[in-house]
Amino acid sequence: MATKNKSKTKDKKDNVDKKQIKLLKSVIEDLINKQSVTIIDLLAGKKNVNEFSIAEKLKLTINQTRNILYKLSDYGLVSFIRKKDKRKGWYIYFWTLDTYQSLSLLEEKLKKKLGVLEAQFRNRKDGRHYVCNTCSIEVNEETALLNEFTCPECEEVYELSDDAEIIEKIDKNILKLKREIEKVSAERIRQEEKIDKEKQKKIKKAEKEKEKKRREKRLANKILKEKLNKKAAKKKPAKEATKKAAKKSIKKTKKSKPVKKSTKKTSKTKKSKK
Ligand SMILES: [Zn+2]
Repeated sequence: MATKNKSKTKDKKDNVDKKQIKLLKSVIEDLINKQSVTIIDLLAGKKNVNEFSIAEKLKLTINQTRNILYKLSDYGLVSFIRKKDKRKGWYIYFWTLDTYQSLSLLEEKLKKKLGVLEAQFRNRKDGRHYVCNTCSIEVNEETALLNEFTCPECEEVYELSDDAEIIEKIDKNILKLKREIEKVSAERIRQEEKIDKEKQKKIKKAEKEKEKKRREKRLANKILKEKLNKKAAKKKPAKEATKKAAKKSIKKTKKSKPVKKSTKKTSKTKKSKK
């Protein structure tokens, strides 16, 4: 039963992560190339992955692998720690993917793309365009007017572009891109919440640890106090006894040696009393 439940939650987690991995792969494809996207399979959900195992699985040399990783590192998408190989004397790098950073970058790139498409859309709506079908060159109305509606390259007369079709195409692409951005944004937020939760967990753990230490200290102090009190309680009667004994001895040896000061004092007090 317990194992069944466990695998169920794992499946759910895998599904969500599959979505994320697909997005992360598109970042790598965009930044580097299609062959490098498998690096995501090797890094996603793991920490400190040995670069030699990455190179082996990518079927690349260690230098080729490092070049990819350094490039990703420049974008803040991966981080590394290095450890010295004691036997060989060189450093080995261990890499960790920053999922949040990767999703943020993807979102940023898609938003830029959206900006370009929206500018194209406005441009199409604002004015007419003309095209030379021979050279496949398109110009805006102003340029067409300047050229007297004739292509300067081949002297063919311009034709009016079918803006409606182009506008429709751009509009479709804008919608598609917006949906994509929504997906990425949702994943980025999910990742952010995950990081936040982990942070809160760490803070709580640290607080618990502190409280535990405080409690232990308090307990230790209490025990110490009790010990001291017990010691004091044992000593107290003895102290009083010695005090009385001392007084007696002072009375007995009024004029003679022992402590000079005390004899003077006692004599003074005697005088004042008289
Ligand atoms: Zn032309």
